[in-house]
Amino acid sequence: MDIVDQAEALAEHERERGIAAARARAAVMVEWSPTCLNCDEPTPAGARWCDPACRDDYLRRMACQATDE
Ligand SMILES: [Zn+2]
Repeated sequence: MDIVDQAEALAEHERERGIAAARARAAVMVEWSPTCLNCDEPTPAGARWCDPACRDDYLRRMACQATDE
């Protein structure tokens, strides 16, 4: 792998990180999801998570990703 390939690989990696971060932010903005955002179980109407533990787990993971940017 030469220096140009390395630069392209790095740029691609950074682009994917940006997309993943944008997706994570979009997920946080979701007002309702038919399946739990954390574990994909069906949710009660109007909810985004199947239970409070999943909500806490999901938000904790989102917070970890945010600090990783
Ligand atoms: Zn869940």
